[in-house]
Amino acid sequence: MIPVTKTFFPPIEEYNAQVQRIWENQWLTNRGALVLELEEKLKEYLSVSNIIIMNNGTIPIQIALKILGNNSEIITTPFSYVATTAAIVWENCTPVFVDIHPDYLTIDETKIEAAITPRTKAILATHVFGNPCHIEAIKAIAQKHNLKVIYDAAHAFGVTYQGKSIFEYGDVSTCSFHATKLFHTGEGGAVFCNDSILRDKLFYSHNFGHNGPHEFHRLGINGKISELQAAMGLAVFPHMGEIIAGRKKVVEYYNANLDFTKLSKIKIRENTQWNYSYYPVVFETETKLLEVQKALNEQQIFPRRYFYPSLNTVNYVNSNEMKVSESVASRILCLPLYMNLDLSSVTNIINICNLINN
Ligand SMILES: *Cc1c(COP(=O)(O)O)cnc(C)c1O
Repeated sequence: MIPVTKTFFPPIEEYNAQVQRIWENQWLTNRGALVLELEEKLKEYLSVSNIIIMNNGTIPIQIALKILGNNSEIITTPFSYVATTAAIVWENCTPVFVDIHPDYLTIDETKIEAAITPRTKAILATHVFGNPCHIEAIKAIAQKHNLKVIYDAAHAFGVTYQGKSIFEYGDVSTCSFHATKLFHTGEGGAVFCNDSILRDKLFYSHNFGHNGPHEFHRLGINGKISELQAAMGLAVFPHMGEIIAGRKKVVEYYNANLDFTKLSKIKIRENTQWNYSYYPVVFETETKLLEVQKALNEQQIFPRRYFYPSLNTVNYVNSNEMKVSESVASRILCLPLYMNLDLSSVTNIINICNLINN
């Protein structure tokens, strides 16, 4: 069976060695030694000035929206994982969808201004598949209209844009360390923020607002990650080089051998060092996608329809039609991609795609 992705499991001795430290420390949570060490390692690896690791990749979005959104309208992309939209609605804000660019698949920056109203407080955009949004244009719009920018960078671990970590852009940037993501802690995530006042608010908010045992800075919730999850992160971390190199090999093989006459690839933003996190392909019609999916499934190959449906169509939001996003969402398929996916299996996948999609 070939799934769309496979979680990287570090050698169990390496994981056990990290768990051993937890027993020695007799300390399980509340920012223990392993969490602090993982934060330092990631800070250096990613070249970021700040990181707060949390228990998943959704809670930092919720916390950022709680602080910056305040029951307002949030401009957002309809082409993302459902967590992006769900976090907005869950925090009692209103998602206002703006369609996506047909090649980059990120929010179409040229359509953002038309969606701004006096109730708009922030833009929450996704660097979908690790592909950066048009960061400069979004920053200019935000400054002009006094809006905050939150980037859902769940897919963007290790991506650099203009020579800088993608997490350094926006007022707040978030990442997911879920088991299906490039770097993982089983469940986990992080928030990045370079404004010290906002960073402190994010930090206190993820720990019940505590300022010492009996005092509270502000309203907070539980976004803390445990030592057990950090142990997984510390065991996975030394393998990031091979993980990315192994995926790069598969991506380049797909690129060289898929027939792109009736299939299109996502366009990676200029000046981006990408992370090989997903392999999305866009078919000419949904019918073709379904035919290819069926042929692959018959051979126990399970690509995934990331991301379908377009989020403006979920039943708990009200939205206008988003023509590009709805069209792309119905025609896009992520092909299997993971470190040890052997090239003979990839050849088989490619042959099926090329044969059926003619
Ligand atoms: C995975 C993901 C999230 C949520 O991350 P969790 O760690 O699963 O909470 C948010 N946004 C996007 C775009 C994602 O793919």
